[in-house]
Amino acid sequence: MLTCKDFLGWLNEYLDQTADPETRKQLEAHVTACPNCWVIYDTTQKTVQIYKGMEPQELPPSVHERLVEALQKKLASK
Ligand SMILES: [Zn+2]
Repeated sequence: MLTCKDFLGWLNEYLDQTADPETRKQLEAHVTACPNCWVIYDTTQKTVQIYKGMEPQELPPSVHERLVEALQKKLASK
């Protein structure tokens, strides 16, 4: 079973669908079972779609960093 840290490390590959099938399966299982990662995944995915809909450009790194920071704070406060 993947940890949240593993999941976040794979998030970009997962969103770009460049992760290998076996890893994708594990990421899918984690995001389904973990509400924290689901929020990160869902928010990032929507942000990426908005940016892709506007013009072809990379997701600003700051968006992803802010999300990861927020999750890490949440996990640390447990
Ligand atoms: Zn998680």
